[in-house]
Amino acid sequence: MGLLQDKIALVTGASRGIGQEIAREFARQGAAVAFTYNSSEAPALALEAELQQLGVQAKAYKSNAAFFDQAEALVKDIITDFGGLHILVNNAGITKDNLLMRMSEEDFDKVIQVNLKSVFNMTKAVQRTFLKQRSGSMIHMSSVVGVKGNAGQANYAASKAGIIGFSKSVALELGSRNIRSNVIAPGFIETEMTDKLNPDVVQSWRDGIPLKRGGSPLDVAQSCVFLASDLSAYITGQVLNVDGGMLT
Ligand code: NAP
Repeated sequence: MGLLQDKIALVTGASRGIGQEIAREFARQGAAVAFTYNSSEAPALALEAELQQLGVQAKAYKSNAAFFDQAEALVKDIITDFGGLHILVNNAGITKDNLLMRMSEEDFDKVIQVNLKSVFNMTKAVQRTFLKQRSGSMIHMSSVVGVKGNAGQANYAASKAGIIGFSKSVALELGSRNIRSNVIAPGFIETEMTDKLNPDVVQSWRDGIPLKRGGSPLDVAQSCVFLASDLSAYITGQVLNVDGGMLT
């Protein structure tokens, strides 16, 4: 029996990258999986079919996490379609990197809206359901950059650090109702995007990591399974660094 048997999960931004692997791993662990995408419809529908083949209920929803009303409507639709919700993974995120000197107001606002405001929107949208059932697990995707900062990513780092403060506050507010809120802070995760980078640069990043390799989307997804499942029933308000020891 899977670790997430009989659970219903929502993963935002699962058409690509880390979110896609979280959706897959949740389905392999027996969860019913609702997931969102912003514009990548074809990969989202392909993933929906793939998850259904694993024998679980699965559905892709086009929903922009940055908008409060869309988050509310999404969760309403999921409750109707799936009959409940137990796990929320706030994974959707973007970057718009630049040195502060060249960063536009628009690029600052956009990253905060998609990465941080979305976490508020989605958490508000699931809150009532989680409160009523007196249980629920929320996982918010931050980054080592949110813990440590990074030159050229002031907007992204601010959004990812904001997620940590938000999650810890929610953990304090909702702990008495058995609702847990935790953060995952991935380090250097190798995806299609990093495949396009200069191999020597990528190798130098790997060499600087204590475990001597980049992480995989599966490394992050398996940490999400732990935080979503009852294996972590007594863990809330934490930040789990999934970074091969990078911040040690
Ligand atoms: P990715 O490959 O760029 O995928 C991002 C996903 O988010 C896509 O499914 C995208 O949907 C979705 N998305 C973007 N904007 C959205 C919006 N407004 N509403 C709903 N969905 C939206 O990113 P990734 O590398 O897998 O990263 C996933 C998360 O991990 C992000 O929060 C990122 O900051 C964090 N992270 C990544 C790394 C890394 O090394 N990759 C390291 C630390 C943290 P569409 O395909 O439709 O655009």
